[in-house]
Amino acid sequence: MASVLLVEDDETIGRLLDDALRANRYRTIWCRSGGEALEAVSREAADLVILDLGLPDLDGVDVCRAVRQRLPGTVIVILTARDAEIDVVVGLEAGADDYLTKPIRLTELMARLRAHLRRGPAGASSAVHIVGELRVDGSARRAWLGEHELELRAKEFDLLARLAAEPATAISRTALMSDVWDDNWRGSTKTLDVHVAALRRKLEQAADLGGPKAPEIATLRGFGYRLEPPDRG
Ligand code: CA
Repeated sequence: MASVLLVEDDETIGRLLDDALRANRYRTIWCRSGGEALEAVSREAADLVILDLGLPDLDGVDVCRAVRQRLPGTVIVILTARDAEIDVVVGLEAGADDYLTKPIRLTELMARLRAHLRRGPAGASSAVHIVGELRVDGSARRAWLGEHELELRAKEFDLLARLAAEPATAISRTALMSDVWDDNWRGSTKTLDVHVAALRRKLEQAADLGGPKAPEIATLRGFGYRLEPPDRG
């Protein structure tokens, strides 16, 4: 049974989510403030954290950062007001894996949670992909640039594995979203861009640490992404 830490100060929304989570067989801990949430994560782990960014006591982004630090492997989904696009970006940069805007649609939330808990795309999970000096091992869920192991979060790994499965090939945003996240993904795909940005940063950092040249993730405007093997020259 997966455990969910729910952080939501609004009694109505919190009750709705808490009931829905329990009905879907999640073990739920409901915290009504940032302070309560930080106390909860200092006591026990959770598979998933659903975090409302608008909290009465602490800045939700700070709570997100603290939860990420305490629970590096957990999935964090942030909740924001509909018009708070900037919060989404800041929240994702603070370590969130995904976001939903209010009003929350329960079917969508549950689909997302299931997608996050499903580790890796179903088909290609155990393959090893080599692109230049990048090596992605699907069965071990580890990736290296030369000798340097990349520290990747679950979905970053899945995305890199998906791109590396077809190097030098344009892959559409829709295909990436459905393969890495969920078959019925709806709404904005900013989550994808943030994960690509994180991968680029980690590949560059590994190369800067004296590693070999990293493959590049090329942006194809209006289409998707392509993993480019580095120039041989
Ligand atoms: Ca709130």
